[in-house]
Amino acid sequence: MAREWTGIQQFPLATQTKLLEILGTLKEKSRGSLTILVMGKGGVGKSSTVNSILGERVVAVSAFQSDVPRPVMASRERSGFTLNIIDTPGIVEGGYVNDQALQLIKRFLLNKTIDVLLYVDRLDSYRVDNLDKQIVKAITESFGKEIWRKAVVVLSHAQLTPPDCLSYDDFFARRSEAVLKVIDSGARLKRHELQDDSIPVVLVENSSRCSKNDNGEKILPNGTVWIPKVVETITKVATNESQSILVDQKLIDGPNANDRGKKFIPLILGFQYFFVIKQLQKWIENDIAKAPKSSWE
Ligand code: GDP
Ligand code: MG
Repeated sequence: MAREWTGIQQFPLATQTKLLEILGTLKEKSRGSLTILVMGKGGVGKSSTVNSILGERVVAVSAFQSDVPRPVMASRERSGFTLNIIDTPGIVEGGYVNDQALQLIKRFLLNKTIDVLLYVDRLDSYRVDNLDKQIVKAITESFGKEIWRKAVVVLSHAQLTPPDCLSYDDFFARRSEAVLKVIDSGARLKRHELQDDSIPVVLVENSSRCSKNDNGEKILPNGTVWIPKVVETITKVATNESQSILVDQKLIDGPNANDRGKKFIPLILGFQYFFVIKQLQKWIENDIAKAPKSSWE
């Protein structure tokens, strides 16, 4: 099913070597495949990031109405290792989380196992708002809180000059902090639930105008060679101590779908006892009292 990952040859040799090394470590840990789910608002660069990582134009990208209407999975194989990346449409419409879009994504994911969630937003935004929180909440309600232990935050449009004489790294730190905070509150995560370290944040610059180093590798303003860095972070999260997320019917039906009615059972039983059984008893007792005594009595 998976196609040969030819896109890897598009990368400069130095990047290829690093990527193959990372995949090698995964195989050492006897991981034969990796499934990455990409989510976030529309137009933030989800599809572009998928293409950048694979080194191929596998999903459509456009500046306007950039979203594919349904999820798409790209599978690529390289020396016995399979990389699956699932690109999804943005789940926001008219300022709200679109439940139908979310449902479509969940159904697409049925019986798949998510090893890593890439939560994509832009580096060059200056604020987070309630909508971001709603998206995080929707993801959490769909896949459970545990999904955030398998998450990497990706900030696109990373080739920028920070305003107000902030250094690049300071700007990155502030933007990361803001996004992580909204995730914490939207997912209602408590510090200890993230274990020792919080969700890693990586930078991405999908533009063809991204600067390059002497080896021809794409670099950020702070010099980071970002493609290997992103893939390395993904594999770290994939192999951390937390379980991957299996999307089964139970998860799709929502938490406690089966239990939802259960709390009413004692109430219903109580109701039956007082209003049905008691009444019946009363009638029977009345009948007995009213019944003419038989002669043998
Ligand atoms: P999606 O809706 O989240 O899948 O976003 P797309 O990947 O379709 O990107 C939306 C628009 O933003 C397209 O015009 C992309 O070319 C552009 N874009 C995406 N990522 C970047 C980036 O890192 N830098 C720049 N400069 N443009 C980007
Ligand atoms: Mg897209």
